[in-house]
Amino acid sequence: MLVLGEKIYNLTKLYEKLETTIIRSLELNFCIHMDSQSPTMTSMHIEKLADEFDSKTAQEVLKWALDTFGTKIALASSFGAEDVVIIDMMANLDKNRARVFTLDTGRLNQETYDVMDAIRARYWIPIEVYFPDQKEVEEMVRPRGMNLMYESVENRKLCCEIRKVHPLNRALSTLDGWITGLRRDQVATRATTKKIEIDTGHGGIVKVNPLADWTSDMVWDYIHKNNIPYNTLHDKGFPSIGCEPCTRAIKPGEDPRAGRWWWEDAAQKECGLHFDPSKKRHQ
Ligand code: SF4
Repeated sequence: MLVLGEKIYNLTKLYEKLETTIIRSLELNFCIHMDSQSPTMTSMHIEKLADEFDSKTAQEVLKWALDTFGTKIALASSFGAEDVVIIDMMANLDKNRARVFTLDTGRLNQETYDVMDAIRARYWIPIEVYFPDQKEVEEMVRPRGMNLMYESVENRKLCCEIRKVHPLNRALSTLDGWITGLRRDQVATRATTKKIEIDTGHGGIVKVNPLADWTSDMVWDYIHKNNIPYNTLHDKGFPSIGCEPCTRAIKPGEDPRAGRWWWEDAAQKECGLHFDPSKKRHQ
């Protein structure tokens, strides 16, 4: 009688566990695939997940992203240190579902093209390259010149808009989610970055930031331990790498972002890729 009672108790517990798992899975499925007419509900579910995900490792977050979205999610990579870490993790998790896209502004450093090819050779992942619209670039440089970015903030922002933001919008319009290498300690505006967020600036798709709680040292430890190819400009004093005309090496003790658009006021220094309209500020 005792044994039978124990069996019934165990079966009841198992049933309860299964029920909880199914409900959670349905909830998640609902929140991801739900009608875009209900953004509040979606945000609510994602916020709940974000709290849960904060204690998860980068690999666990990426696994969730690939399992949930499959090939409808991709990493936006500029082949900086964080991006190559994420590419390595994604390739280890599932090479067939790991998608990487990049924005070739037409003004990148040769070293960036070199690491792109080194990554392609190492992981056999096709890099999806998005270029700016030819007509938009022609119409921009004809009256304003090739080095328009140095002339005014307005010109610089126009250049970023045409060479970066528009191609990013094109890439994201095909996806249900994107993965980024944003870290909380990169700049003050990223201090509250969650590992999973709703990107209201891009139609409410999901934005996954698996390295949100990593430090720069953790990134470099991972790169060296796993012998991952990286942009050699990092060895020449470039902590953050963008386009060639707008990035320079920094001096010891300088802010890591000091080498980006160095001639501009700090408040202007964003390219618009991580603009969050819900907070009316850049991330
Ligand atoms: Fe143009 Fe410089 Fe922006 Fe690149 S970073 S898109 S070159 S303004």
